[in-house]
Amino acid sequence: MLYFSPGVENLLGLTLDQACHDRRRLRQCVVSQDQQELSDSVEAAVAQCSEWEHEYRICTPAGVTKWLHGKATPKLQADGRLIWSGMLTDVSARKRAEADLQASEEGLRSLIENVQQGVIYHDPQGRIASANPAALAILGLRLDQLLDLSSSDPRWQALREDGSLLPAEQQPAMQAIKTGQAVRNVIMGLILLDRETVWLQVNAIPSFKNGQLTGVYASFEDITERVRLASELRLQASTDFLTGAANRRGFMHSLSREFERIQRHPGLQSCVLMLDLDHFKKVNDGFGHAAGDAVLKQVTYLMKLETRRLDAIGRIGGEEFALLLPDTARDEALLLANRLRERIERSPLQFQQQSIPTTVSIGCSLIELFDSNADAVMVRADKALYQAKRQGRNQAMLG
Ligand code: GH3
Ligand code: MG
Ligand code: MG
Repeated sequence: MLYFSPGVENLLGLTLDQACHDRRRLRQCVVSQDQQELSDSVEAAVAQCSEWEHEYRICTPAGVTKWLHGKATPKLQADGRLIWSGMLTDVSARKRAEADLQASEEGLRSLIENVQQGVIYHDPQGRIASANPAALAILGLRLDQLLDLSSSDPRWQALREDGSLLPAEQQPAMQAIKTGQAVRNVIMGLILLDRETVWLQVNAIPSFKNGQLTGVYASFEDITERVRLASELRLQASTDFLTGAANRRGFMHSLSREFERIQRHPGLQSCVLMLDLDHFKKVNDGFGHAAGDAVLKQVTYLMKLETRRLDAIGRIGGEEFALLLPDTARDEALLLANRLRERIERSPLQFQQQSIPTTVSIGCSLIELFDSNADAVMVRADKALYQAKRQGRNQAMLG
C-alpha cells in the first residue's frame, strides 16, 4: 500500500500509518469469511492487469461491521511499474436495504407459494405469466399446460354463475387490465380440457409501477363444493321427497317459464293436465298409509313412462299431480290424458301380496294467450278435473 487518504481512518478505524504499513492489521479488518474471496479478486485483477472491483465486509477494531465497495484501476507508470489506484466506499446502508428487500420479497414469495388460494399473474396483455402451486392444484394443470392456455383458447371455457358463457374479455383479469380497477368476488365456472366444471370465486387486482400497469394478480378459491351444495339445496327445495317429482313450487316455476315462452311466441300451444287419485282415502284406510305412499310413487312412475323428457311432472298436493306438456295441442293432450288414465287403471299396485287398483280423474287445459298469469290455466284445469270427478271419476275432461 503506497497511499491512503485521511478518510480511511474513519472508514477502517486504523491510523494512516497502520493502514499503510501494517499489512497484517489491514488484513485482519476483513471479516474472515470474506478474506479468501477478497484475495482471489485481487489476484485475478493483478493476473489480468485489469480493473479490480469487489464488495466485502470489514470489522473495525471498535467492533463495527461495514460493507465496503472497492474499485481500482491499474495504470502503467513512466518507470514501467503498474499501480492500482481507486476508492473504498462504505455501502452498508445499501446492503442493508438490499437484504431487507430480499427478505421481504422472499417472505412474499413464500406466502404466495404456501397460501391455499390460487394466484395467477397475468402480464398487461392478459397472458398468464406465472401461477402458484395452489392455482395448479385447483385447476388440475401443470404450469406448462397453464402457461400454454390463452384466455381465448377453445380448450377452456368460462361460465357465469347462471351457467351462461362468459366471454374471454369479460373475465375478471381482463376487466382489471382494461379498467385498471380491482374486480372482486366474481363467481366463475371453468370447464377445462373437457373435465368437470371447477367453480371459483375470483379477485383480480391490477399492479402498477410509476403509474404504468405492470400486470394483474388474479387470486381465487375453489368453491365447487359450495356451488354443488347450493344447487342440491335448490333442487331439494323444488322436489317432492316421496316421489322425486317436482313439488308445487318446482312445477309452478316450470309453468311460469312456459307461460312466458307462450307469450313470446303466440303460435305455440302448450297444455296442462291436473290429476287427482280417485277415492284415495280408501287406499289409506284399507291398506295403510305405506300402501298409499307406494301408490303415489307408482303413479309418478307411470306418468314418467307415458310422457316425454321435456314434459314436467309435479306432485302439487297430497294425491294431486300436474303435467306440463309443451308444444302440445288440446286434442293431443286429451289423448295423452286418456292413455295415462287407462294405463293407471290397468296397473294395480302389487303390495304385500295384495293388488291395489287405482284410477285417476284428469282435467286438461291449454295455456291461452289471454291468460293473465300461469295460475289461470291451473284454475281451468282444476275446474275440468272437478267436472271429471262429478261425472263419475276415472275420466279426462277438457277445460
Ligand atoms: P276423490 O276421488 O274425491 O279425490 O277422493 P279422495 O279420497 O282421493 O279425496 P280426498 O282429497 O278426500 O282424500 C285425499 C287423501 O289423500 C287424504 C290423505 O290422507 C291422502 N294423502 C294425502 N297425502 C298423502 C300422502 O303423502 N301419502 C298417503 N299415503 N296419503 C296421502
Ligand atoms: Mg285431492
Ligand atoms: Mg282424490
